[in-house]
Amino acid sequence: MKNEKVRKMILGIMLAMILISGCGKKVVCDFCDEKKSCTTKEVMGEKINICDACLKELEEELY
Ligand SMILES: [Zn+2]
Repeated sequence: MKNEKVRKMILGIMLAMILISGCGKKVVCDFCDEKKSCTTKEVMGEKINICDACLKELEEELY
């Protein structure tokens, strides 16, 4: 029983670490103005920040 608790704790810590480290720092998305972990893309010489949700929406619109 004790081992199960420890395992859950370790899993929780690992998950938190993954979420914190993520894919870098949090920036304000140019599309929804929300502070999220964004991907920076260069479009026609201009750098834009786009979060995963907006990126997915754009991709769905494109295809
Ligand atoms: Zn967004």
